[in-house]
Amino acid sequence: MGQHLHNRVNRRELKERMRHSGEPRVTLSYYKYVQLPDPQQFRDELYRIYAELGVLGRIYVASEGVNAQISVPESRFGDFKTAMDAFPFFRQMRLNIAVDDDGKSFFTLAIKVRDKIVADGIDDPAFDPSQTGTHLDAENWNRLSEEPDTVVVDMRNHYESEVGHFENAITPDVATFREELPLVADMLGDRKDRKILMYCTGGIRCEKASAYLKYRGFKNVFQLEGGIIEYTRQVQDKGLKNRFLGKNFVFDERLGERISGDVIAQCHQCGKPADTHTNCANNYCHILFIQCDECRERYAGCCSDKCRDFSMLSADEQKERAKTETFSGSRFGKGVYKAFRKSAQSLKSPGEAQK
Ligand SMILES: [Zn+2]
Ligand SMILES: [Zn+2]
Repeated sequence: MGQHLHNRVNRRELKERMRHSGEPRVTLSYYKYVQLPDPQQFRDELYRIYAELGVLGRIYVASEGVNAQISVPESRFGDFKTAMDAFPFFRQMRLNIAVDDDGKSFFTLAIKVRDKIVADGIDDPAFDPSQTGTHLDAENWNRLSEEPDTVVVDMRNHYESEVGHFENAITPDVATFREELPLVADMLGDRKDRKILMYCTGGIRCEKASAYLKYRGFKNVFQLEGGIIEYTRQVQDKGLKNRFLGKNFVFDERLGERISGDVIAQCHQCGKPADTHTNCANNYCHILFIQCDECRERYAGCCSDKCRDFSMLSADEQKERAKTETFSGSRFGKGVYKAFRKSAQSLKSPGEAQK
């Protein structure tokens, strides 16, 4: 029998297996910008190695490099390091090990070939992504961000910064990185000589964003090395002051890791302080939103009465009715979250008016 380079067991079963498995796993992420002449061939090679090691997760491979969010069985971690070091460009690379982790972050192994590892929407050949900003460690980040004319910019999407961000950061109201790049440059306008400090989850987006701002004429561009994940690690290791408030949103089953005790967001259904992201339990909706514990119970994990009632129907009936019904979200695309958030804000406004 030939080797299988894809999962052959369905997702639900894999999820069950993971729930009942006591095997300790390490969740981590890494990225590497490196020229890969044959992304498909590299993808297949990586799949073979990771499948053998029992690595799970989501990995993107493109001719510009690799971006991975994975979990590795603790018992195979040494083998994993050895296998990675066999690729010269992976040596010396930082692995971002997750904090606040139960190891159940992924259920399958998916490695996909894409045009780019970070979609940037830039097609100007004069743009040079290797001209990045100056990398800062946590200590220097804290020092520079305290200076009065520094501008701190969050290079993530609105649903990420909503539950956690650096003190005094600008948090653009965008759903994709692609739309954020020109918007941030326009927003910063003529502040070309100011110190611009940018950050993201693990550093990968800032590699491009800092180069983009320099391309747009900004002179003092800095970026947080390794992003919020590495910052948190250094803050803990070195006993530095933590300037990040709330949760770090992550793209795995956990949806967020708590960095500070501050809860800076509100439940989208009742407006109470809450910062737990969830996907609507009605799978035909699946919208990403923030829900408090009481609303979770009241709506059975759904975004609305409509979705809750629908989720109680039999699978067959759901399938039939889904042909004509529409819900707040769809299974794909996090952009729909925006529509939901707007309606949540308008629900809240009467309460605010009473103050
Ligand atoms: Zn609520
Ligand atoms: Zn829903």
